[in-house]
Amino acid sequence: MPTVHAYAANQASGRLDPFEYDLPDALQHDEVEIDIRYCGICHSDLSVLDDEWGVSQYPLVPGHEVVGTVAAVGEHVTHVQVGQWVGVGWFSRSCLICDQCMGGNHNLCPSAEGIMMGRPGGFADKVRAQSHWVTPLPEGIGRADAGPLFCGGITVFNPIIQNNIRPTHRVGVIGIGGLGHMALQFLSAWGCEVTAFSTTPDKEAEARAFGAHHFVSTRDEAVLEKLAGSFDMILDTVNVDLPWDLYIQALSPKGKLHLVGAAPQVTATVFPMLASQRSVGASPLGSPATIREMLRFAARHGIAPRTEHFPLAQVNEAMEHLKAGKPRYRIVLDVA
Ligand code: NAP
Ligand code: ZN
Repeated sequence: MPTVHAYAANQASGRLDPFEYDLPDALQHDEVEIDIRYCGICHSDLSVLDDEWGVSQYPLVPGHEVVGTVAAVGEHVTHVQVGQWVGVGWFSRSCLICDQCMGGNHNLCPSAEGIMMGRPGGFADKVRAQSHWVTPLPEGIGRADAGPLFCGGITVFNPIIQNNIRPTHRVGVIGIGGLGHMALQFLSAWGCEVTAFSTTPDKEAEARAFGAHHFVSTRDEAVLEKLAGSFDMILDTVNVDLPWDLYIQALSPKGKLHLVGAAPQVTATVFPMLASQRSVGASPLGSPATIREMLRFAARHGIAPRTEHFPLAQVNEAMEHLKAGKPRYRIVLDVA
């Protein structure tokens, strides 16, 4: 029986302490077992640790930006081999037979399972997942920093696909953190004119290096009023309430405010949306096919998360660093 060495919290906002559990001897026929080498830390790990969404179960092993090598495969798994470098993100399983899975939208499967929800996640030396969600790392993707692509990266790449964003589009990104700094890279490589919206003025030089053509310091909301009608899409990556009407006003006709940050609510005035056919939407991660597309695009354009590495044993210090809003720009845990 393989024993997994993980870090778990026993209560909301609790310390992450060493935690061991056993996996069943046999893998399910469609499963892959991964020896974890690296795991990124996403703000969602912190939100779930703190039970901000009211769905956490303890003991909780966070971690959903996993990279490692295949340790074993179930009998029906053909697309990955033992020893191969792979990654897996938020989802660990989907049903494969519902309309969403059959339509290629596995990330919208109503019974999709989260790798750290109701089961132990990736702050550990091993994890298992359904093979469909386990993606080989292509040539050109650096292994040590690939983990964040599997949650943060796909989450900001997918809206480009879903909204048919074109190189001629003008796009804004709110929040230059883990997700936001990858969004700037993807959108500028896509060819868009990119604006970073940030509460942290000293991120300007780095935001421009990630590909932003413009930087807007949002401490002063009056600046947003002057941008009315400017953007085809604004991608929000922050988890707080914002002056929604101002951002909707900043959209051009048919523009979209696309939320990936877990803001508690959106309150907005309908008329500016109605009159200019603007809309508000949101999405979770992306499908397995879009993950592959994202990885190929990242490899071709040299897109990579900017990371700070902590050993897994210092996971509590790493979580404090994230809570303080200090990472530039994504933390990755070195597991082995
Ligand atoms: P992060 O690294 O902590 O970055 C969040 C950024 O938001 C910060 O860097 C900061 O950027 C900005 N920010 C923080 N507090 C703010 C405030 N009070 N007002 C305005 N801006 C503020 O977080 P992350 O890992 O990128 O995750 C971002 C959000 O996406 C979280 O809510 C997470 O749960 C969610 N998420 C959703 C999905 C999905 O599937 N939809 C997937 C992954 C993550 P500036 O310094 O530039 O202002
Ligand atoms: Zn995440």
